[in-house]
Amino acid sequence: MKTSPTILVLSSPSGGGKTTLARYLRKEIRELTYSVSTTTRPMRKGERNGVDYTFVSEKEFKKMIKKGEFVEWALVHGHYYGTPIKNIKDALKKGRDILLDLDVKGAKNLKKIFPEAILVFITVKSLKELRRRLILRKKDDLKTIEMRLRNARKELKEIKHFDYLIINDNLKKARAQLKAIYIASKLRIPKPRWIENIQWGKPGWIANIQWGKEEKNVRKRP
Ligand code: ADP
Ligand code: 5GP
Repeated sequence: MKTSPTILVLSSPSGGGKTTLARYLRKEIRELTYSVSTTTRPMRKGERNGVDYTFVSEKEFKKMIKKGEFVEWALVHGHYYGTPIKNIKDALKKGRDILLDLDVKGAKNLKKIFPEAILVFITVKSLKELRRRLILRKKDDLKTIEMRLRNARKELKEIKHFDYLIINDNLKKARAQLKAIYIASKLRIPKPRWIENIQWGKPGWIANIQWGKEEKNVRKRP
């Protein structure tokens, strides 16, 4: 019996450590597919188009929404971000685990479509520490940092929708905790309600995924 592919979602207030921890897990678990999101945010120094994000204009993004190309999308810190349906569809068809870095709304919306998705909330012990890390990261100007910190207060209230919480004060410990969550996900017994068209023993055993009609910015799983 094959286990079902893991859909692992990391969310955190900006500066909480998602990117750092995602990078670590991808190195550790080579077979993990990373979902490259599409965004209208300007590219940061050091980022690569198609690797960190696919960077598009707002006009292009809205066209993609209209064409129903996103499984979920959200306006986060003043820019659009979305997960192309293709990312998840391709991973599940191949039976591959997939890692996503989403804001809290995106995580909640994805879980509505994929109840088996595992939502991990990452945070640090104080907003003061968050500010310190955002400043040290040197990727955003002070105005952007303040906006991200204001949003952090709202995001923290969403913890209740998540399955796991990692307090990223000690990076070594946080890495081990994330890896443990991934390993535990591979030991789960799939629940029938998660799965359509089970094909035991076949590679990529979640087959024939059909995508429903668009409902606001969330797509229904058939
Ligand atoms: P996010 O992707 O959630 O916005 P990052 O992964 O970019 O956050 O982390 C923000 C900053 O904090 C980065 O400069 C990163 O190197 C640093 N950082 C991450 N984890 C820790 C930690 N446990 N202790 C100290 N600094 C950390
Ligand atoms: P950043 O600009 O710091 O890379 O990301 C800003 C926020 O957008 C983060 O909370 C990140 O998780 C979120 N994000 C990145 N990609 C997506 C996506 O495809 N969908 C949603 N909903 N949020 C995303």
